[in-house]
Amino acid sequence: MNFESQSLIGAPTEDQRIYRDSLQRVMAQLATPEYLRAIDNEARYPYEIYDAWTELGLLRIGFPEAYGGIGGDLKDLLLISQDLAYWSYDVYTAYSVPLYTALTLLKVGSEAQKQEFLPALLDGRIRLSTSISEPGAGSDVSALRTTAKRVEGGWVLNGQKLWNTAAGAKANVLQVLARTDPDAPPRKGLSMFLVPNNATGVQCRKLDMLGRRATGTYEVFFDDVFVPEDLLVGGLNEGWSGLLACLQTERLLTSAGYVGSAQKVVDISLAYAKEREQFGRAIGEFQVIGHMLADMQTEVDAARLLLERAAAVLMQGSDAAREVSMAKLFGSETYAKVSNQGMQVFGAYGYSMEYEIQRHFRDARSTTVGAGSSQMQRNAIAATMGLKMR
Ligand SMILES: Cc1cc2nc3c(=O)[nH]c(=O)nc-3n(C[C@H](O)[C@H](O)[C@H](O)COP(=O)(O)OP(=O)(O)OC[C@H]3O[C@@H](n4cnc5c(N)ncnc54)[C@H](O)[C@@H]3O)c2cc1C
Repeated sequence: MNFESQSLIGAPTEDQRIYRDSLQRVMAQLATPEYLRAIDNEARYPYEIYDAWTELGLLRIGFPEAYGGIGGDLKDLLLISQDLAYWSYDVYTAYSVPLYTALTLLKVGSEAQKQEFLPALLDGRIRLSTSISEPGAGSDVSALRTTAKRVEGGWVLNGQKLWNTAAGAKANVLQVLARTDPDAPPRKGLSMFLVPNNATGVQCRKLDMLGRRATGTYEVFFDDVFVPEDLLVGGLNEGWSGLLACLQTERLLTSAGYVGSAQKVVDISLAYAKEREQFGRAIGEFQVIGHMLADMQTEVDAARLLLERAAAVLMQGSDAAREVSMAKLFGSETYAKVSNQGMQVFGAYGYSMEYEIQRHFRDARSTTVGAGSSQMQRNAIAATMGLKMR
């Protein structure tokens, strides 16, 4: 991979070069085409890779030393995101979901919660994931129906979550948004809880999905699940602001993943177009294919620039609602578009499960829906332009 073409807001620092090199070495060793094909086929969580990340200290980047971290900023996390997603968007989500769940905990959790959960995550004893969506609550999160009722010493959760990435992975703790005040306006009566996925009454079922099959997508059932008082995160009925606390960072990390994966699509499509010969010449020399590849790289670069701009605004401490939504919208649409074009470059070989391009085609299809759909991003952008969307 060309590090410079992946660089964000200036060339990488020496430290960034060192950890990116180590990460590439680990990924080259473990994320072989055979391994990636097997975990996709068998819908098997990439434990081997995750363990290697924790050994490398990858998860420590971006967190304060007080909780077992080694410091670092958003730029570091965005570089890592691009680098990991270059191998597989699916595998990348095994890193991104715990990361942004932990960043929310870092922002809104109590000191005791941070002391308990963050070091455990960073040294690999637990994982974290986010449980918000439900059968009747997708884009409209405020429609969620999972309830948390107060009992002596804590809360009892009942309900169902849907489409939760990595929820059923070993030693995972779910950050669950539930309704604590049924009489309050929809966004006001929500609270966040930490719930180990092996707590009594929790059931996780891995769903048979088109893509992102290894890290996986789950439905989660809560049947009279007791949650102790001290696992309420961010204050009673403060769930909505907890949800928003890290939303821009989460969307940006996700968008960095799109850019990394989309770049991989361009690289493998280009390599194939140079090597595959028809009518006595490389297919890349047919102008229609060459121009398609030129457009693909241009759009990926544009997606990266939108990401860089949003990151720069966010790192200045400013509100980046418009910039983040644009980066998310364009990044996901670009990943989906170039994967489709890549399939065309590969011809029938692309349609075979032997080739990586079909996995991108399947994984990319989820990205214009998850983490706020393209339509919701357009609504958000239009809102910053003074338009009220219905
Ligand atoms: C692979 C994958 C992983 C996911 N991981 C997680 C996770 O870890 N945790 C979690 O909580 N959730 C997760 N989700 C759920 C995701 O957040 C939702 O799918 C998303 O919010 C959209 O909700 P929905 O699928 O119910 O679609 P709906 O909200 O039902 O939308 C259906 C269609 O209508 C459009 N639409 C809806 N409302 C509007 C509107 N106001 N204006 C214009 N168009 C509109 C949408 O854009 C979409 O095209 C995941 C989803 C996927 C696909």
